[in-house]
Amino acid sequence: MLLVVVLVELLAAAALAAGVGAVAGSLPSQWVWIVVVLLACGTISTEASLGVERLRRRTDETPHIDLSSVWALAAAILLPGVVASALVAVLFVHIYLRIWRRSGVPPHRFLFSVATVVLAVQTASAVVHGLTDGEPFGSGSGLLAVLLALIAYAVVNMALIAGVIVLSGPTRNLSTFLQVVSHGDEAVLEFATLSMGVLVAGATASFGAPYAVLVLPPLIVLHRTVLVRQFEEAASTDSKTGLLNAATWHVQAGREMRRAERGRTQATVLVLDLDHFKLINDRYGHLVGDQVLAAVAAAVRAEVRDDDIVGRFGGEEFVVLLRGSDGAPGGAREAAEVVAERIRLRVAGLRVAVPGSRDSVVVEGLTVSIGGATLPLDGTGLGELLEVADAAMYDAKHAGRNRIRMGVGSGRSADEG
Ligand code: GH3
Ligand code: MG
Ligand code: MG
Repeated sequence: MLLVVVLVELLAAAALAAGVGAVAGSLPSQWVWIVVVLLACGTISTEASLGVERLRRRTDETPHIDLSSVWALAAAILLPGVVASALVAVLFVHIYLRIWRRSGVPPHRFLFSVATVVLAVQTASAVVHGLTDGEPFGSGSGLLAVLLALIAYAVVNMALIAGVIVLSGPTRNLSTFLQVVSHGDEAVLEFATLSMGVLVAGATASFGAPYAVLVLPPLIVLHRTVLVRQFEEAASTDSKTGLLNAATWHVQAGREMRRAERGRTQATVLVLDLDHFKLINDRYGHLVGDQVLAAVAAAVRAEVRDDDIVGRFGGEEFVVLLRGSDGAPGGAREAAEVVAERIRLRVAGLRVAVPGSRDSVVVEGLTVSIGGATLPLDGTGLGELLEVADAAMYDAKHAGRNRIRMGVGSGRSADEG
């Protein structure tokens, strides 16, 4: 892993060194101006986005596209690769000092980021200059060359980041990364950013470097939209467990329920309540209790499908909407009961280790009581199903806890049986 990181960095340095000799003859006439304006714009955009970026680095562990690629790509198109790379390195030192260092990003990650961007810049620059003799905006093949450079930039950047994620092991795995990248928003944001880089280059080449300044306001506004998305996510999830909070669960489950009713498919609501959870708090304290809640949430999530809707209703109570599994031999209710049983067993098998100040506490022997209600057998509408499932859950409690009750009147018949 370290080897690859170092390799990428050496490669970046070598690419720079190789280009130094070739630079002198190929500088555009206005190059000093271009460098000055791009550096100034890059610095201003970093300063204008300080709050947003610091928040983002702190709350967002997944890799994301840096908006500084606007200036990096513009430089790659306008300037020889070496000059563009040096410019980007300077911009990144500024970003590091103002944002990353304060939010605790270690220097080696900064170096790696610079190396990936330098390689992306070198590649994009090679594409443009190879295809157009360095005059993309005058020539016929210019647009194609610039678009190819944009794609090359994005691909190199992504590939290098993905590589390190794969190599750094199971904790930050590739599927998470691919999810992030293929997530429409992130891809659109990157395309928007790089497009602005092309516009900066075009305006500079056609009208002069000062026109690049006009990209600053839309860039800063674009940057804000990143935070909106993050706030949206924060507002819809429960911070203790990462599950949906009650309000969002209601909205999403209600929507799914209406879809099921229209399509005459089945769907099941499960209500889960941990047994004697107060004892855990009493014995180990609330902080340990919170960790246990997070572990249970993960266990529930792990036993259902990705598109099932899982929320924390409050306290140590969870809700799941299982989407219809038509075709299951016994229908949706039986299929849901199988899922509930898997959840029950998984919770029973949990061993939650919580590191303490002296030694770590291990909590085990947890149990959960689960009630379920299935559309259309047990009612119509989310409210009705929730009521039935809740009553069934209490039936499970009264019958001795650590068990499952499904549907209307399930408690009575099950107790008798
Ligand atoms: P049972 O459900 O089996 O009847 O017993 P219980 O002890 O779980 O009782 P109940 O569901 O009524 O109580 C829930 C307890 O969960 C009360 C409170 O101590 C604890 N609790 C609720 N929310 C949280 C939380 O966010 N963190 C922690 N650590 N504990 C919580
Ligand atoms: Mg409970
Ligand atoms: Mg409770």
